[in-house]
Amino acid sequence: MSIDVLGYAAHTPTDDLSPYHFARREPCPDDVVIEILYCGVCHSDLHSIRNDWGNAHYPLVPGHEIIGRVLAVGTAVTRFKAGDNVGVGCMVDSCQHCDACEQGLEQYCEKGTYTYNTPDRHNEGFTFGGYSEKIVVSDKFVLKIPEGLDLAGAAPLLCAGITTWSPLRHWKAGKNSKVAVVGLGGLGHMALKLGKALGSHITLFTRSPGKEQDARDLGADRIVLSTDAAQMAAVKGQFDLIIDTVPYVHDINPYIPTLSLNGTLVLVGYLGGLEPFLNTVPLILGRKSVAGSLIGGIAETQEMLDFCGEHNITSDIEVIKMQDINAAYGRMLKSDVKYRFVIDMASLKDDK
Ligand code: NAP
Ligand code: ZN
Repeated sequence: MSIDVLGYAAHTPTDDLSPYHFARREPCPDDVVIEILYCGVCHSDLHSIRNDWGNAHYPLVPGHEIIGRVLAVGTAVTRFKAGDNVGVGCMVDSCQHCDACEQGLEQYCEKGTYTYNTPDRHNEGFTFGGYSEKIVVSDKFVLKIPEGLDLAGAAPLLCAGITTWSPLRHWKAGKNSKVAVVGLGGLGHMALKLGKALGSHITLFTRSPGKEQDARDLGADRIVLSTDAAQMAAVKGQFDLIIDTVPYVHDINPYIPTLSLNGTLVLVGYLGGLEPFLNTVPLILGRKSVAGSLIGGIAETQEMLDFCGEHNITSDIEVIKMQDINAAYGRMLKSDVKYRFVIDMASLKDDK
């Protein structure tokens, strides 16, 4: 039997999210049925409901930073049992046999299924995300949450954490690396924490003068106000890796000269054409790269969670009720979040 759940959905790009009843699939033998305890609020949720990427299907239930407790497992599931604390991130399915899947890079599977707003392989229609009471997910896409981690604070690890961990690991950030992060929001603050814990020297580029002390507390060794040309010039040729988390179109040209020889600027935020154009001169003269990166694979996500368990790393969060989500989006657009909203799903009972 399918499972009736209450969630919050957007019905158009401009309306507020509101309560919405829908059904989760009848569990398959390899499925895990999860009661959602917390769900982080990612800027991608806002891009999706506003149809910034032109692919929104309504009603749209966002949410891909899910922490929950296992309610039941199918007969083929051996890794989880009722009562376990688990996580679900941005993906709930992939083809399992393409090159990307075979390398454990399910996020690059061309037939992959995102947690919301993607055609559902099991049902007609599109997947519904974590702003809801329960979710049913194949065990391959369910993560173990290390014991001792604060559950609400762990929710953003499932997207903000892995999206910054993956480029740090791919570009081998370590003790002798100089890493910079552009933008201090949800992704940015996780990049500071994870980069610092990997032993790198960390710089924050921010356009917001008021964030200096927070950035230092989060692990930044240096803060550069990106609107100040003298501060930008002072870090010329410094960074092996820059992780750019800015969600909207912006000029990346000022950051390229701050890369070292062979350095790489990785875009993880904005999706689309760059404006103004990208000047190739400093790229060619310094064998520098501009790259992109998408979340991380399932094994890499578990690696990141285990690392966070060992180092007691969670997100800095503000817990909100489901009913406060529309106000939270307004604050997110003003960069007024320290540094991730997390929805307490118990608040959904107020809509019953
Ligand atoms: P967020 O919490 O809103 O943080 C974004 C930060 O970027 C802001 O705090 C601000 O930092 C800076 N910023 C915002 N607007 C800006 C603008 N117009 N110009 C310059 N700087 C600006 O967002 P988030 O949740 O971290 O997400 C960041 C982006 O990553 C979003 O576009 C999201 O969709 C994307 N994302 C990508 C992936 C992936 O797999 N690649 C995964 C998750 C999210 P300062 O005030 O410090 O400048
Ligand atoms: Zn996200």
